[in-house]
Parts: sequence; C-alpha cells; structure tokens
Amino acid sequence: MKALVLEDKNILDLKEVASPEPKADEVLLKIELCSIGGSEYMALANPGIRPLPHIMGHGILGTTSSGARAAVYPLQSCSNCDYCTTGLMQLCDMWTLIGVHSDGGFAQQVVVPKSSIVELPKTLSWEQAVFVEPFANAINAWEIAKTDSKNSIAIIGAGGLGLGLVAAARSSGHTDIAICDPSATRLDVAFKLGASSCLDEQHGQYDVVFETFGSIESRNKAIEITKKGGKCIFMGFASPNLDINISEIIRHQKHLMGTFVYTREHFKKAIQLAEVCSPEWVTKLSFVEVEPVLKSYLNGDFGIVKAALNPN
Ligand SMILES: [Zn+2]
Repeated sequence: MKALVLEDKNILDLKEVASPEPKADEVLLKIELCSIGGSEYMALANPGIRPLPHIMGHGILGTTSSGARAAVYPLQSCSNCDYCTTGLMQLCDMWTLIGVHSDGGFAQQVVVPKSSIVELPKTLSWEQAVFVEPFANAINAWEIAKTDSKNSIAIIGAGGLGLGLVAAARSSGHTDIAICDPSATRLDVAFKLGASSCLDEQHGQYDVVFETFGSIESRNKAIEITKKGGKCIFMGFASPNLDINISEIIRHQKHLMGTFVYTREHFKKAIQLAEVCSPEWVTKLSFVEVEPVLKSYLNGDFGIVKAALNPN
C-alpha cells in the first residue's frame, strides 16, 4: 500500500510499504479520509514523541472489511487505573494515540484495535466526519470550562478546535461568541456556525477564553482578554513553555486550565455535532499534496479551513 512516512524532521516520503496484518483483536480499515491538523504540521518540523519512521494521522475515517463506515477513536489507555475507571483516560500514565505513538492514517490502510471503531451514521458524509476528532477535543474543553449561560465567550483560532467550540457553544444556547483568526476563510465558516463576532484580532474582556493555537503570543493574548475572575482554557501546543506574571493571575483570580483530547463519550457527541458542518469546508488532498500544505501551515498560512488526505 502507499503511505506517507515521516522519516525524520522535515522528511516526509511517499512510499510503498507492506499492508498491515490485523491480529485477533484488531481490524483492518480501508482509509477513506484522514484529517490533517496542528499535531501533524508541528510533527513535520519536530517529530517529538513519535517513533521514527512513522505514519502520522490520528483523525482516521475508513471502511471495515464488513463494510461498516467508521471513525477511529485513537486514544488507548490501561483501562484499570484511577483515571481510566473514572472516565479520564487521557490522564492515564499509559495513554497513547493511534497516529502519534503508533502508525496512523496517512496511508491507504491501517490496523486498529476493534475497540477503537466508532460507527458513523449514514447521514454523516466522510467530509463532515473529518470534523469529529477536532470537535471531540472542543466538547471536552467546553465541558471542563463549565460556562454559565450569561458568560461571554472568546475563542482564539478558527481551526478545527475553534470551530468545534463555536458549534458546542451554539448547541448549548450561547449567542455571545467572539472568535479571532488571521484567515478570513476560517472566520466566514465560524460565522456560518453561529459566532457573533469574527475578527482577525481579539479585543475586549471575556468571562471564558479558549486558546487553540498555543503560541506564546496567543497564550498571552488569551490571558490578557480574560476578565478578572474569569477562565482561560489552553488547548494549543505550538510552544511548550510560557512566562507569565503569576502575581497578576493571583490578584485577578484568573483560572488557567489545560484540556487535552477526549473520552469515547465526547467522540460520540462530536459525531452529532459534526452534522452542522458543510462538506465543502474540507479540502481533500492526494498524498503528494500533503507536504506542501503542512509547510504552508508551518509558514502561518491557514487559508484552508480543514484539510484531509484522500488516499484513493
Ligand atoms: Zn489508565
């Protein structure tokens, strides 16, 4: 089968590799689409925790040998620890993600545990299903934020996470939703999803602020626009560190929180939430088109709303 193999930093090769063989508790998926997001373009520049050589892609959508249309729930954990037994599998010491710690969906086929298969309704197109994985992240963050119906909401970044937050906020009845992004194309989609203010830069003060880029600049902006006593939720990974004036955080009683991936329940909720998405928001890429798009993201060009590999 064909696969895009991350050999090393900035080396992504299209290769012919052996098709993976499923074990008894695994299933072989024919990949239909695999979403491309922040973790993939950042991994091209810095593979980090990924074992090399590696096939990236954790937003996997495919068809099983019995013809079922499926999304892959990529999080794996021990199932036995205090975190796993209380539904916080992403905090398990043994957590792994298919497509990060093991080979993922930048290929024509993938082998995944049977338990990771989440069946998709016939009413959801493959293109709409591309939004399931980022929207599951957004639902986890939205639930952790515990927003009040009167809260003003600001979202920094209108990629898959930001758009999922707009959809989650709207489905919870919120109408005061401000979002910012450098891309007018992404802002147009955020507006269609129900954001009330769409700007290239965020101003003002908000009760709850979600930060989805993860750059130092963007995180500082998020803290700055969080009201005294408000909540600032961090989801982006662009930079590992941040220098903050913690005395000011203390005096202003700001709540800084991190949120990471999702549970299986969030994934199922995201399948419903993704129904509001238009298939036209997805740009389908052939194998050879993936690397140029990852590099354009690295250069700060986010003109594409959501990219996905079509390996067929
Ligand atoms: Zn565990």
